[in-house]
Amino acid sequence: MRFISGKDMLDKAWKEGYAVGAFSAHNAESIQAILMAAEAEQAPVMIQVGQRVIHYMGLEAMKVMIDTFAKHTNVPVCIHLDHSRQYQQTMSAIQLGFQSVMFDGSSLSFEENASITRKVVEAARALHIGSEGEIGKIGGTEDDITVDEEDAMITTVDDAVRFVEATDVDYLAVSIGTAHGMYKKPPKLALERLQEITDAVKRPIVLHGGSDVPDEQIQQAIPRGIAKINVDTELRQAFTQGMLDVLLKDQEEYHLAVSLGRGRQFMQAKVQEKIRLFGSSGRAQDFR
Ligand SMILES: [Zn+2]
Repeated sequence: MRFISGKDMLDKAWKEGYAVGAFSAHNAESIQAILMAAEAEQAPVMIQVGQRVIHYMGLEAMKVMIDTFAKHTNVPVCIHLDHSRQYQQTMSAIQLGFQSVMFDGSSLSFEENASITRKVVEAARALHIGSEGEIGKIGGTEDDITVDEEDAMITTVDDAVRFVEATDVDYLAVSIGTAHGMYKKPPKLALERLQEITDAVKRPIVLHGGSDVPDEQIQQAIPRGIAKINVDTELRQAFTQGMLDVLLKDQEEYHLAVSLGRGRQFMQAKVQEKIRLFGSSGRAQDFR
């Protein structure tokens, strides 16, 4: 079991020019799928706990499950709180021993977002826990919040600089043309803007909505400063396809180990595919 601060994990990836996959977990089997994939690829990995699973399963239950499964792993793992919109929840995650937390104040005013993010950064930093903030609105639906595509704005360099100066957040989520969920038409990432933001803020950048982005755009974004890529939707699709693979053939297959087990297998394959795309395969050794 080797838990690594999100800051250490992403600083390393950013300097070395690869991205760490931040994969969302929803149940025991999806935690296992992420860990099994990371082991098979010998990759550092982030396991994300998001708002929907917190409502459904509980923050502490997820943390305890991840700890239990990760106890036997030989790759660096970082447990990350995704899209927290409450200061108190972010503090609860810190108290529970998460290695990375995100406060998402992107629906607040700039001043409110910066001031709460700053408080999160201070608390996290005292315990060497990585912190993520968000500036700009990322389109699509995350948990119960939907941002219309017209409202999803490309983050300006000026906003990114002002936000980083006000918060000193360890890594920054920006809006550069991705959206949460699957795309109706292929996204076109604002790669030049990304490069400008990276040059200005000089720290790892986080790409949300990593599902369904064409591989070549991901490969262009990583050398321009993306060090963490969040993937959720494609993993849930793979998991569901695995279960359907069992249940469409035999609707009376009531052993959950069979259907959930197939879901886990399909999801593991998808996570491995992403790890290879992100360039983090074989990078576990960076942390020895
Ligand atoms: Zn997100």
